Formats: sequence, C-alpha cells, structure tokens
Amino acid sequence: MSDETLFTRIVDGEIPSYTVYEDETTYAFLDANPLAPGHTLVIPKEPYERLNEMPGDVAADVFGVLPEITAAVEAAVDADATTVAVNNGPAAGQEVPHVHWHIIPRFEDDGVGPIHALFEGVDLDEDEMKAVAEAIRDNR
Ligand code: AMP
Repeated sequence: MSDETLFTRIVDGEIPSYTVYEDETTYAFLDANPLAPGHTLVIPKEPYERLNEMPGDVAADVFGVLPEITAAVEAAVDADATTVAVNNGPAAGQEVPHVHWHIIPRFEDDGVGPIHALFEGVDLDEDEMKAVAEAIRDNR
C-alpha cells in the first residue's frame, strides 16, 4: 500500500473534488475527465494499489455502497445503464495507483459497446480451460 496518492490527497481535501459520497472507509467523487456526464470514481480511503490487495472487509464496505451510488448516478443523469469497471494494474490501463471503480453512465444510442469490444477473444480447448481453472483454484 502506498502512503499517499493523488486520491488520498483528494480524500484529505488537499485537492478539490466534486464529492458525491463519503463514509468511514469509502469515498466517491466525479472523474475530472468524464467519459460521460456523471462519470464517478469510487475508492477505499486507504490507498490499496490494486483490487488484489484489498482486505475482504474493506472490499465488502466498498462493494456494499456501490449499488446505491451506481443507482444514484444513473438517476442523476437519466442514464439507461452504466459500465462499472476497474482498470486493475498498469497493463490494464490503470494510471492512478489507488484502486478505483469507474461508474460510467451509458445511453442506448451512445455507440460505445460492451467491455467485450476491448478484446478480440481467445480460443481455448477443453484441456486448456480445465488447466486454467485448476491454476486459479490452486492460487487462491
Ligand atoms: P485509471 O486510468 O483507471 O487509473 O483512472 C484514473 C482516473 O482518474 C481518470 O479517469 C482520470 O480522469 C481521473 N482523475 C485524475 N485526476 C483526477 C482528479 N484530480 N480528480 C478527479 N479525477 C481525476
């Protein structure tokens, strides 16, 4: 866990933000470069770099409020849906090393497509699927 990040400075009020939610463990604010009106970031106040490092109780706190924040974002901008996503690590496009959920309002005619549009996909045969499932189980 890093000591200070851009987002801890926002939580501490050193950098201004448009705050939309705050409790003991969780903070949410508007993304400064919105991909759609209402684009919101939800973070644990503690600066865990990636999702992988979050203790279960902190993750439960953040996940506990994600549904209501997501619903409020959709209602606020009259969105048809939302894409809720984490860029989990630099190779996935994470720029701020403090885990955060993007809540991005979506509209029927926005033409953006699903997260699946980011990937070409891979063909795995049954043995490969079994092997990767086993590896995931073994690494838990
Ligand atoms: P990511 O690429 O997933 O790490 O996303 C980082 C996000 O933080 C980007 O969408 C930025 O627009 C956003 N961001 C960077 N600086 C600020 C800031 N000072 N206030 C609000 N959002 C910010």
